[in-house]
Amino acid sequence: MSTITPLLRKAYSSERFQEQGQALLAYLGTYLSDLDAHSTNPFAEPQQELQFWEQLLKNEGGQGKAAPLDQVLERTVHVHQPKYMGHQISPPVPTLAFADQLSAVLNAGMGVYEMGRAGSALEQVVINEFCGLLGLSVGAGGFLTHGGTLANLTALLAARASRWPGETEVWETGQTDAIKPCLLVNEQAHYCIDRAVRIMGWGAGGIRKVPSDDQYRIRTDLIEATLAEAKAEGYSPVLLVGSACTTSTGSFDDLQALAKVAEKHQLWLHVDGAHGAPLAMSAQHRHLLAGLEQADSIAMDFHKMCCVPALTTALFFRDVKDSYRTFHQQADYLLNFDTEDEWYNLGRRTFECTKQMLSLRVFSLLFQHGPQFLRDYLNRVCALGQTMADQISSRPDFELAIRPDCNIICFRYTPKLPQMTAPQLDHLNQLIREQIVQEAEFYLVNTRLRGRYYLRCTLSNAFTEDHHISALLDKVASIGNTMQSLNTSLGRLR
Ligand SMILES: *Cc1c(COP(=O)(O)O)cnc(C)c1O
Repeated sequence: MSTITPLLRKAYSSERFQEQGQALLAYLGTYLSDLDAHSTNPFAEPQQELQFWEQLLKNEGGQGKAAPLDQVLERTVHVHQPKYMGHQISPPVPTLAFADQLSAVLNAGMGVYEMGRAGSALEQVVINEFCGLLGLSVGAGGFLTHGGTLANLTALLAARASRWPGETEVWETGQTDAIKPCLLVNEQAHYCIDRAVRIMGWGAGGIRKVPSDDQYRIRTDLIEATLAEAKAEGYSPVLLVGSACTTSTGSFDDLQALAKVAEKHQLWLHVDGAHGAPLAMSAQHRHLLAGLEQADSIAMDFHKMCCVPALTTALFFRDVKDSYRTFHQQADYLLNFDTEDEWYNLGRRTFECTKQMLSLRVFSLLFQHGPQFLRDYLNRVCALGQTMADQISSRPDFELAIRPDCNIICFRYTPKLPQMTAPQLDHLNQLIREQIVQEAEFYLVNTRLRGRYYLRCTLSNAFTEDHHISALLDKVASIGNTMQSLNTSLGRLR
């Protein structure tokens, strides 16, 4: 009897593949043409959700049925909905999903050229194209990686390798008392920088958080003092990290000023441009990133402001040679780490070994729509940011945290009641958000700025209109108003 069982044959059947694929395509096509039929982010408590899926597997599992993809769709956030104004993910151009389909079926590993021939070459093409679009200098290069978090960690490792090259470096000896590296970064930076520092074993003293100004940009005037303080404590500053932009408020650090300090003190300059780096492509917004080309490394997500499915991130190096120095170990069965410029064996430079064919998504976008599509998109969502800021400013019961630089807007509902304390105001806004999330028509998130609770929107959907924004603000005001009257009568607010 053959050990190729019917179960094995069934799972790999091409008929099943076509049947389910066509059904899904029809289903998603209808979905995209009728988004209004779906609330923006259907709400359920985590425990409820867990039970639903456990039950489903118990009752219907093992029957060879199509996976319940329609159920996933009904129970997940809808970033294509114009009322989605939550975290920074962009609604992907739907046809890019086909790149993922192809890539998932082929499962080309991409760690080495031989396992991902087209994908590796496409990656080089895409990287070179974006070096040009972002205005980086000749000699720049890089690679794609799974997410900004990993790109930032990889950049920090590259900076460390450049500071202590060869035999003496931490890579060989491990972290010793003789070497206490540290970096400087805006206190408002994304938490993954802090995490990367600790992963590298630099400890809490390895991250020096520089205070931010009233626009939440790094206080460049405090950098010299922070450097001196670190050195006095026996630390060796290795790099400066610029935020372009910060996550909470979308504020852009002054990269030119950072480049100046980095040069003076021979520090590596890394720019965390996970969210905002694409704006360098737009003539209207390029000024926010002045100095970008002076950075030694830049992380840029394609899934936040380039409409590509997550996770897709580029890590650029001003001098591409630096990208070959990060990882030194031998893996004789797979990679040769001795020769430089082996651009096509990507695993030499990336944290990942096996990697998805990320390049096909970005290449497909450029191939189908060209860079002008991205400029139109970037200009559109930033214009929406200004619209929302204007609307908030014109409402007496609202406070705008700062005038936005891009498409991230922080604000709160502030009824003019003298008896409301700051914690009560925080609590009121928290309750407003909770109710909006439970109603599920809109989706927005929150943050804390200088300890205070703010509502936070990222306008990443090009089809969000002014009236969607005013409808959200009306809702915030109406819920806020009801809650606050309840408070007066019931004393509900903490
Ligand atoms: C989103 C973000 C990150 C994290 O990127 P992921 O792709 O989610 O891993 C890092 N830095 C900044 C500034 C971000 O906005």
